[in-house]
Amino acid sequence: AKASGKNRLCFYDPKLDEYAMLRLALLNDFRKSFANHDFVVLYQPQIRFSDNALIGFEALVRWHHPERGIVSPIEFIHLIEENGMIIPLGKWVLNQACKDAMTWSAPLQIAVNVSPVQIERSNMLLTVASTLENTELPASRLELELTESSLMCDGDNTINLLNELRQQGVKIALDDFGTGYSSLSYLQRFPFDKLKVDRSFVIAASNHTNSDGKSDAKSILSAILQLAQVLNLETIAEGVETQEVGTLLHELGFENAQGYFYGRPMTADQAKQLIIDWPHNIEQ
Ligand code: C2E
Ligand code: CA
Ligand code: CA
Ligand code: CA
Repeated sequence: AKASGKNRLCFYDPKLDEYAMLRLALLNDFRKSFANHDFVVLYQPQIRFSDNALIGFEALVRWHHPERGIVSPIEFIHLIEENGMIIPLGKWVLNQACKDAMTWSAPLQIAVNVSPVQIERSNMLLTVASTLENTELPASRLELELTESSLMCDGDNTINLLNELRQQGVKIALDDFGTGYSSLSYLQRFPFDKLKVDRSFVIAASNHTNSDGKSDAKSILSAILQLAQVLNLETIAEGVETQEVGTLLHELGFENAQGYFYGRPMTADQAKQLIIDWPHNIEQ
């Protein structure tokens, strides 16, 4: 039955059909693309405020769709999480990132995103151990970025996993901090090394400054930084797009930063070259 007036349930929605078809087509394309290796890993620099050192890169996957061109992970990660295909893709990204990091002229860190699906439905300990063995990357150079949603399901298992990974020397960062739930209790329960504060807080702090120079957003960031200090966590701010925001975050007490101002996600070759060229003058 079609919708027969406002405030009625709509049993047939052609838009929904269209959307479902699109998802199906995209998933089908994904399978083909995975077999064809139509994916590439880009690297975005991370810097330390105190001395402007390059400390490492975050690995960010891109899909080179044969017809659509580059598809953002925002458009397809969620889709492939639902059917578990994030597991083989995640393994591939991890391996590629560790391999690329081995070619760098300095032993910088490589941060790799890990989906909650990989935590829940695959053996991450085994995956990480075999990847480090195969690529010969020292565990201390690998950092895994987890979001709060990774911590929601099977808490004790995840805590054990993280402890075992850390025993190997792998670092754990809590990504998009502040956007999930139960942040404080989870922070206490789970063994992290680093807090990666979400871009939304960074944007808010840069936007809403009162006449007295203070803002709620800045107060929130200060509170997060105090919390990190109490819990002995390293901090990094993401989404830093301008020098002004970088300076503000440095003054607030952040140790590290990542964002377009320091560098956009770049190819493996460009990342390799950036390490050689660093320190360079950041354009004003
Ligand atoms: P994320 O982990 O929060 O990664 C940061 C995202 O912010 C990246 O988007 C990056 O390009 C973008 N970004 C970095 N600096 C700036 C900035 O200064 N301004 C703005 N506006 N954006 C900035 P990207 O590469 O499109 O990735 C989006 C999300 O997709 C990531 O968010 C992450 O959740 C997910 N993702 C990407 N690669 C992977 C992967 O290999 N595995 C998994 N599981 N997820 C991935
Ligand atoms: Ca991330
Ligand atoms: Ca993030
Ligand atoms: Ca984010």
